[in-house]
This record gives sequence, structure tokens and C-alpha cells, in this order.
Amino acid sequence: MPTCDITVVGAGPYGLSAGAHLRAANGLDVRVFGETMAFWERHMPTGMLLRSPREASDISDPKRVLTLDAAEVGGDDRLSARVRIDRFIQYGRWFQQQAVPDIDPRKVTRVETDTRGFRITLEDREVWKSRRVIVATGISAFAWRPSEFVGLPVSLVSHTSDHRDLGRFAGEKVLVIGGGQSGLESAALLHEAGAGVEVVVRAAQVHWLSRSAKLHRLGPMSRLLYHPTDVGPAGVSHLVARPNCFRRLPRRLQDRLGLRSIRAAGAGWLRPRLRDVPITTGRSVVSAVPVGGRLSITLDDGSDRRVDHVPLGTGYRVDISRYGFLAEELLGSVRQINGSPCLDAGFESSVPGLYFLGAPAAWSFGPLMRFVAGTAFASREVTRRILRNAIGWESSERRDEVKLPVNG
Ligand SMILES: Cc1cc2nc3c(=O)[nH]c(=O)nc-3n(C[C@H](O)[C@H](O)[C@H](O)COP(=O)(O)OP(=O)(O)OC[C@H]3O[C@@H](n4cnc5c(N)ncnc54)[C@H](O)[C@@H]3O)c2cc1C
Repeated sequence: MPTCDITVVGAGPYGLSAGAHLRAANGLDVRVFGETMAFWERHMPTGMLLRSPREASDISDPKRVLTLDAAEVGGDDRLSARVRIDRFIQYGRWFQQQAVPDIDPRKVTRVETDTRGFRITLEDREVWKSRRVIVATGISAFAWRPSEFVGLPVSLVSHTSDHRDLGRFAGEKVLVIGGGQSGLESAALLHEAGAGVEVVVRAAQVHWLSRSAKLHRLGPMSRLLYHPTDVGPAGVSHLVARPNCFRRLPRRLQDRLGLRSIRAAGAGWLRPRLRDVPITTGRSVVSAVPVGGRLSITLDDGSDRRVDHVPLGTGYRVDISRYGFLAEELLGSVRQINGSPCLDAGFESSVPGLYFLGAPAAWSFGPLMRFVAGTAFASREVTRRILRNAIGWESSERRDEVKLPVNG
């Protein structure tokens, strides 16, 4: 049976970054499984712009050289503050070729505990043994569908993450649910593709990030308000950028600031693109019933809509039990709060040797973990922890083999 020291499951920004940092430590046999940038490629719409600014969109490597600018994938939009999704996917692939060239694209179908480590089963049934497992499989399993829409045919209702090409709705009438960036940007792209679009938002108003855009243009003053990682409102952004401080705040404050930092909001630059799209605020859907190949929607003010399709921009809720590859027994041993694993300072769960990166780490380290900008902190800390433990793994031979990475 093939064996390795560390298995990284997932090849998005977090898995690639962790792979890059761990590989820089001589002596560790690290395997990274998964299709490079698959979530960005398949579950986000063509034409999307990253909401994060360019300087907060680097995937971290230990020498800090594999940056978006260094990748030379900027092309004609290199000087623009906004990064196009196709450029970001190209960048992720380039990063992978530089840092983890021997990635294994196979899917992991099962992770279970085994003597002195874990047993990893791949999609073609090959089985690996690994001492440690880093789960970096992102949010696609967490797409949230409100109960009114559960059980309806996919031809009538989908999640925004189900689409890459929104052009297929040209000429159709669609009702987008949700006033966050995904819902609003999907609405803009649908409108531009020729669909008849309306947006329904539960909140009393859409939160546009226009004021924050102005505060970002104050030159050096902006730096006092916003950390370059740019997650969270003015001031709070500096706290969010320091996960080790954030995690020491009282739990209630962490929860409040965490929610505030990722509340449903639309980038200011979407506003003009939605000028001709009706947005109904302060309303929610009470029923959705298929009628003659279309969907009849009733809102809580009693009004009705008849539409061809409803894309749900209703976000994601972390629940690691929805990662189908974690064996039940293993999952049962992971201490969790509302579906999120409780992680220690080295991203290790209550199961020794099992780590979680990305959105599942946000309960323990704050909202930075939901963004690419969090890869620097997460990869550095998980690598440190693993190296420290690795030195104690076995004999002194091992101690000589494992060396801290440069700038680690
Ligand atoms: C519409 C939208 C816009 C966003 N915009 C931004 C933005 O502007 N800036 C930002 O920082 N973040 C943005 N995000 C958040 C973004 O999703 C995360 O920052 C980023 O994807 C986190 O990286 P990750 O590696 O945790 O997850 P992912 O990018 O989702 O990567 C997970 C990887 O795991 C692989 N995988 C899954 N299951 C398995 C398995 N069983 N076996 C092997 N591999 C597996 C997948 O193939 C994928 O490659 C956005 C999210 C959405 C939905």
C-alpha cells in the first residue's frame, strides 16, 4: 500500500498553498489530491470579477514569489484593481505547476482512521496510508438551499454555484434570491446575457459597499482603516487580518464581528450594472410551486411571480458532515460547533493528525479563512505545527531529515 507523511485533500488556493509550504520542508512526503482550481472553474460564473482586491488575491508560498503579478497572467487587465476570474484560474494553475507539479487529480472518496494515521481511498479505489490529513476541500459541499426550494427540479431551481455559463438563460424570466455578492453579480451577468431578471432580497435594503469603496481611496489614510487583506469593515479589518488576536476575543464578539465581516453585500461597482434590474427588498419567498414547466413564486406580501428559473444566491453554511468522504466514525470524533470543527492554534482538530483549512477553519480563526488572503496565515501555522510534531514522530533520523523551510 502506498504511504506518505501528509495528504492534502483539495487543490484550490488553500490546498495548493499548504502543499507549497509543506513541500519547502525537506524530508516530508506530501501528496496533494484534487483537481486544480475546480471550484473556481466549475462553480463560479464566467465573466465574474473577484470582489477581493488584487493585492489580497495572492496564494501564499513560503518565499512569497508566486504572486498574481509574478504569474504574468494579468494581460490587458494587469493594471486594473479588479481581477477577472479567468485570470485568477490561470494564476492558480500556474501556481500549482510551480509549487506542486506532481499533483494527483484523483478525488478522495474516503478518509478513515487507521493504525498510526489514516487510510485514504481514491476514486479508482486505490488506497493510501498517510500519517496526517489536511482537509482543504472548500465550500462547494456547503451550498445552502432554503427549505421552500428543496425537492424542486433542477431545471427550475438551482444554486448560483451550479452555473458557469449564465448565458443559457438568455430570453428567460429568472428570479434571483439573495442580496449578497453571488446573487447580485449573477443578476448582473444574467441581465447582460439577455435574461429578464428580478432580485428578491430578505433584508430591508441592499448593502452596497460604495461607502467602503470611497474609504479605500483615501490614500495612506485607507491603510489605517483597512488591512491589505481587506476582509471586514473599516477598523475591524485589522483585527480580522490577525487571526491569533481574533481568536482570543470573547466568543460572542468573534461571532458578531465574523458575521459583520461577511454580511450579504454587493460591491459598489455592481450598482450601475443593476440599474435596470428590479430589486425587491424586505421580502421572502413563502412558496414555490411548479406550474406547467414554470415556477409560481409567492412572496410574503402575497404577490406572485411566474418565472422560468430561480437561481439561489443564498450562500453557504459550513457543515463538515457534508464532506461525504469523511468516515462516520472519524467525523463523530471531530469536536464541532454547528458543523464547524474546533481547531487548535495549529489548525488541528480534536482528532490528532486531522487538520482543516479554508472556510471550516473560520469558526476557530475568523472570517479571513474564507478568503484567499487567509492562505498565508493558515499555511504557515499548519506547517509549523506539522514540523514540530514531525520532529517528535520517530527517531532522531527523522529529526535530521525534516528541516524548516526558508522564511517558514
Ligand atoms: C461567487 C464567489 C466569489 C468569490 N470571490 C472571492 C474573492 O473575490 N476573493 C476571495 O478571496 N474569495 C472569494 N470567494 C471565496 C472562495 O471560494 C475562497 O476564497 C476559496 O475558494 C477558498 O479556497 P479553498 O482552497 O478553501 O477552496 P476551493 O477553491 O473550493 O478548493 C477546493 C478544492 O478541493 C477539491 N476537492 C473537493 N472535494 C475533493 C475530494 N473529495 N477529493 C479531492 N479534491 C477535492 C476541489 O476540486 C477544489 O479544487 C468567492 C466565493 C464565491 C462562491
